[in-house]
Formats: sequence, structure tokens, C-alpha cells
Amino acid sequence: MPDNPNAEIIAIGTELLLGETNDTNSVYIARQLRDTGINLYTMTTVGDNLTRISSAISAALQRAEVIITTGGLGPTVDDMTRPAVAEALGRELEFQQKLLDGIAARFRGFGAPMTANNRQQAYLPQGAIPIHNPVGTAPAFAIDTESGILFSLPGVPREMKYLLQNAVLPMLQQRYQLGIILARTLRTAGIGESALDDAIGEDLLNTSNPSVGLAAHHGCVDLRITAKAASRAAAAAMLDGLQQRLQAKIGKHIYGIDDVSLEDALHDLVVQGEWRVHVVEAGLPGIISKHWRDQPSWLSAESFTSPQAAFAGYQLATEQNSLQALAQSLAQLARRQQAVDASLVLLCAPQQAENADSAPASAVALCTAHEQCYRVYGFGAQSPLAREWMPRWGLANLWRMLQ
Ligand code: AMP
Ligand code: MG
Repeated sequence: MPDNPNAEIIAIGTELLLGETNDTNSVYIARQLRDTGINLYTMTTVGDNLTRISSAISAALQRAEVIITTGGLGPTVDDMTRPAVAEALGRELEFQQKLLDGIAARFRGFGAPMTANNRQQAYLPQGAIPIHNPVGTAPAFAIDTESGILFSLPGVPREMKYLLQNAVLPMLQQRYQLGIILARTLRTAGIGESALDDAIGEDLLNTSNPSVGLAAHHGCVDLRITAKAASRAAAAAMLDGLQQRLQAKIGKHIYGIDDVSLEDALHDLVVQGEWRVHVVEAGLPGIISKHWRDQPSWLSAESFTSPQAAFAGYQLATEQNSLQALAQSLAQLARRQQAVDASLVLLCAPQQAENADSAPASAVALCTAHEQCYRVYGFGAQSPLAREWMPRWGLANLWRMLQ
């Protein structure tokens, strides 16, 4: 039996394919497998159709030692998981009196009549071991396969979670010599995804254990590092080693680890340096106040209804000037007039279609005593992208510049 089994998840239910139900079960199972040290390489979603469920299981049997299905265990005609598992494994369905007794007892317990179709749930593929389900009526089961084990769990998330935690994971831990997978997120700001990728270098990015993965979100990039080892301490040591190597290469861009927010990191930095920051936002009021519920004392802000109103307020002539040039001038003016260390200007014209040919409708500009930077965007004030990207990019670069 391998010590390093590969797992697959098969989520069953037509409502998942119609986009009516979020497949939260697969996400939950995937996290638990990760934390248990079991590799997961494929997840499949399949509707309530006997042939398609059975062929999804057959395909998974070719690739994985551990298969977990969720959904399709109920009493109704569209619940096909039991016969599909039987078909994929070439077994018959077998009536289990003990299971029916259990279901009947549960119905008696809450004083409801058991209907004839509940009898269906007492049929399991030959050789299946029922998994007692004290939190629902759908009986789950485990069954040995040629190369490993298959678990069928209910679709109701509460029941699925309970049975995964209390039956499936303990069974897997007993059956296999499992390691542990630990993950850590290094949060970076003020550098784009491709520049970060370049700075880290191929040799580090291509290692498989521990491994590095990049995820960009609106102007910030997260580095996710993962290690698998026999013990928690060994995995943590691997993460520490990798983190040190990354720190040596791109440390100046890392503002925090795991749950640290950019707002908190910036706050600490600014307080430490006794900086003062002024924000001018135009056309999209409240974007900064959304980032700090209680406006910190180092931050002053003013809000204009449109970029034009902001230019007028600062008596900035607008003729023949691009939005980026105006944003930069405004940042300089604001820094001087407000007598602060850094200024951040966010300009958002009314909505326009995002399109490479059109002039930018939005601009962010930053100015300190030593540096200026800006970025323009094609989207305008009504775009949700403006709300996400502009303050995030502005705060990320402010953090970088004040370091
Ligand atoms: P079933 O066991 O297929 O009868 O599913 C029962 C209920 O659980 C469904 O009506 C869904 O609301 C929910 N459900 C089923 N599969 C999933 C899933 N993969 N993720 C989240 N909820 C699910
Ligand atoms: Mg279903």
C-alpha cells in the first residue's frame, strides 16, 4: 500500500452543473486533504446521471488510490451514487437489513413515517462498509478498490463535513503513512506579478517540495509556499528555509505573512516613521475610508465629485494635459499645500468602456519628497475594477515608497 496516496474528489449533482449550487463540498474536502497530507490532482463534477457518474468513477480509479464522492446518496430517483459505484467496480447492489433498521429507527426518532423509497438507501455495493451517519439519514459508505479505497459521502454539507472529520480522515490516517502539508502566504506589494516572478527566479519557482506559487490580486501579489513532510516540525522547517531564500531575493516587497493586511502593514510603517499622508479622491468618494473604518490620525483626506472639480479646487490648469500629467501635478500640489510627507491622488472619471484605444479614465498618482509614481487605467468610476484596483495599487506603492 503506498504511503503517498493520490486522491480525487467527485462532486455529484446536476444543480452544481447548472451553477445553482456552489460546490463548497469539494473546496472543503480539498482543504482537509491538504491538511492531512494527501495529494489531490483532480476534481470532477458530474450530474445526476448513472452512466456519467459511473464513468467518472472508472476514470478516477485509473488515477487515484483514494476517491471521495459527495452527493447523490438520498432516497430519490435522481440519487444514483450507489448504483454508479456498483457499476464502476463491477459489483452488485446488496440489501443490508442493518442499514434499513438504522434508517427506520431514525424516522421513528423524529416521528415521521418512513417512505418506501428510503428502502433504496439500504442497498450498497457488495463489500461496502456502511459509515454510520448520526447527523442525517443518508447512509455513507466506504469500499475497497483494487488499488485503494472509495468513500461515498452525502451532499448535504453539514453531513459531509461530519463524516469526513469523524470517519473518512481517521480511516485514511490509519490506512496510510501520511505526512503533513503546511502552507504559508508571503504577501507582497509594490511589484507586479511578472517582475516578482523574474526576481524570484526559475530555480526557486520550479522546486516541487517545498513549492512556491504566485497569486495576483488587484495590485498585490501573494506568494504561497507549501511543504510536505513527515511531521509538522519538519514541514515548518522546510517553509522557514524557503522563506529565508525568498526573503533574500524579494524581502523588500514582503509586507506581511498570512493574515496581515496591507492596511495594517502600512499603518505600522507610517506610525513608525511618523509620516503624514494626504489623500485626494475624485469621482469615487469613500474609497480610502472603506479601507480604514476609523480614519487614522496620520491620514487626511478630501473628496471631490469629479477629477475636474479636484483640478478646479487646486487651481490646476487643465489645457492640453493628459490625465496622468494632471494626476502627477495634483499629487505634487497636494503634498506641498497640505504640508505632508506623502500624497496619494485617485482620479476617476465617469464610466467608460475599457478599451485599448480610448484615453484613460482613471489615474492614481503618488508623491513623496524623493519619488513620484503614477498609473492610469481604462476603467472609470462606475467600474467595480476601479474600486478594487486603484486604492490597492495606491496603498501598495505608498507602502513601497515609504519603506
Ligand atoms: P444530495 O446528497 O445529492 O441529495 O444533496 C443534498 C443537498 O446538498 C443538495 O440539494 C445541495 O443543496 C447540497 N449539495 C450537494 N452537493 C453539494 C456540493 N458539492 N457542495 C455544496 N452543497 C452540495
Ligand atoms: Mg443530489
